[in-house]
Amino acid sequence: MVITLERTQVTAKDFKSNQKSTWCPGCGDFGILSAIQTALVNAGVAPWQAILVSGIGCGSKLPDYINANGYMTLHGRAVTIASGVHLANTDLVTFAITGDGDGFGIGIGHVIHNMRRNMDIVHIVENNEVYGLTKGQYSPTSKRGFRTSTSPEGAIEFSINPLALALSAGATFIGRSFSGDPKHAADVIKQAMEHKGYALVEILQTCPTYNKVQNVEWYKAQTYKILEENPEYDCTDPFQAFQLSMLNDGRYPMGILYKNTERPCYSEQVPALQQNKGALVNHSLEIDPVLFEKLKAAYV
Ligand code: SF4
Ligand code: MG
Repeated sequence: MVITLERTQVTAKDFKSNQKSTWCPGCGDFGILSAIQTALVNAGVAPWQAILVSGIGCGSKLPDYINANGYMTLHGRAVTIASGVHLANTDLVTFAITGDGDGFGIGIGHVIHNMRRNMDIVHIVENNEVYGLTKGQYSPTSKRGFRTSTSPEGAIEFSINPLALALSAGATFIGRSFSGDPKHAADVIKQAMEHKGYALVEILQTCPTYNKVQNVEWYKAQTYKILEENPEYDCTDPFQAFQLSMLNDGRYPMGILYKNTERPCYSEQVPALQQNKGALVNHSLEIDPVLFEKLKAAYV
């Protein structure tokens, strides 16, 4: 989003929470938390200027572990609540934090429509390709053949392609990073925060407890930076982005896959927000007496 509030001098210490994490040792969520904190510091956004809205899942505990506004909601509903928060207070930098199950399973309908509306929020999907909190069932992003408690002979479903899905649904910023590279993840998140419109940041995440195949070494071997491999790559070209998202070579391109700055975002088009009165929460609650009389005449 376009950060309109005054930039503040903040440090990582300002975002430290006093809550003790219950994540397993080595969980990729630690790297994602650190990346979000770094991105906020680098963007000069203070704890009171940001809100993190999460659903249910291991990674959805994240708002508890960061000193900023937070709202833990229902499974699959984080994006919906985040869009409401954003419309009520467009001054806040609004994050929706979901896992792969929360974002691409239970909440997929909300995600698609908020992409289409170009709602000005940053949606971080912590994608460990498994349901962690409920003890390791296969998820919509699990690879075909992945063995879990609910797929003892290997998952028979094909997984969702998050990047291609986001592109076709109308997301105007699509980025990807890895929890084992928090510096890169922080850079992608900061760019997503500065983008006006729906920004999807998929962060590949290790889950050493339930996804023992895809560990840090595995991801290091399977990921590559888009611009390092192809310096000519143009992230504003949807056809190049589609081609890259559909490459089925088992590797994960990282960085900014797609960016469209032409499309207006939803809040820019809402009449009530176009009256130079700033964020809705700052509008006066007083009723115009002339309008009030008209309403009375019409309904009383
Ligand atoms: Fe992290 Fe997996 Fe443990 Fe959940 S189950 S806290 S995702 S390592
Ligand atoms: Mg998951």
